[in-house]
Amino acid sequence: MISVRNIYKSFGDVSVLKGVSCDIKKGENVVVIGPSGSGKSTFLRCMNLLETPTAGEVWLEGKLINNADPTLHPEIIKNSVTYSKVLEKLTLTNNEKSAEELSSLAIETVRQLALENKLRKNEGKDFKTALSRFEAENCIGIESARQRMGMVFQHFNLFNNLTVMQNLTLAPTQLKLKTKEEAEAKAVELLNRIGLYDKRDEFPSRLSGGQKQRIAIIRSLCMEPDVMLFDEPTSALDPEMVGEVLFLMKELAEEGMTMVVVTHEMGFAREVGSRIVFMDDGRITEEGKPDEFFGNPQNPRLKDFLSKVL
Ligand code: ADP
Ligand code: MG
Repeated sequence: MISVRNIYKSFGDVSVLKGVSCDIKKGENVVVIGPSGSGKSTFLRCMNLLETPTAGEVWLEGKLINNADPTLHPEIIKNSVTYSKVLEKLTLTNNEKSAEELSSLAIETVRQLALENKLRKNEGKDFKTALSRFEAENCIGIESARQRMGMVFQHFNLFNNLTVMQNLTLAPTQLKLKTKEEAEAKAVELLNRIGLYDKRDEFPSRLSGGQKQRIAIIRSLCMEPDVMLFDEPTSALDPEMVGEVLFLMKELAEEGMTMVVVTHEMGFAREVGSRIVFMDDGRITEEGKPDEFFGNPQNPRLKDFLSKVL
């Protein structure tokens, strides 16, 4: 369903994601854990393009949602001026290597140059044509991609000047995905489901943290997304409210919603996660099913991390 391919993200000189790849299948619940500052939020934000990856690609149901990264496509990069030059140089100095080896070496070199921002502005007409053709065939617009991915943050991001019902119906009606009546019907259904129908005309300031976060979750669901991304959805809550939010998330997972969840709630990860991913210093350094992941961690940094949070 989602395929993240070799994502890099830098802010100025600071490199935060250093080649992250991850495939998320339909119905999977991928839990992302890792130390603070390891790039978990940036990873989620790149996935739904709240941040633009510096390099790499994000695919949603077989469609590319950011710009193509030519270095991931040999058939494109081979049209570039830089590739030709690099290949020429390598050929002169490596006469023992086969054409195939030289070509993949050249592609690797171009990839490195791209990451260092050293490709030309103009890589030639053939390159441009190949790239445009690839994008025309594969890209979908950022807006339609985003509508299919709900995101829930640590801080609920509800509009405080709008009632619960207005919060829930705003996006689907403004984006003309639903009529007002349809949007309200969906909102009522979801409010009933979480037992907060009686709060429909309240403003968010009158709700508890747990209620706000559950409203934020169903607000995303009102858009009928294919995937839900959660970034530490319970970290800002008082302990007694964590359970009700996790319970709702668990229900969603059990209904087959595809989810990516950044959390420190190891009980949730173990019980509900179909796969756990450990992120450390901008890379995924270990992943596995909960049993093996928690039962037999390999990476020393993961062992250390688990010893602190378990
Ligand atoms: P995590 O969610 O794992 O705690 P983040 O993805 O939030 O990690 O951040 C990883 C690193 O990227 C941190 O060092 C953070 O300071 C840096 N960072 C995140 N967003 C920005 C930004 N918009 N500008 C500059 N640096 C950022
Ligand atoms: Mg974070």
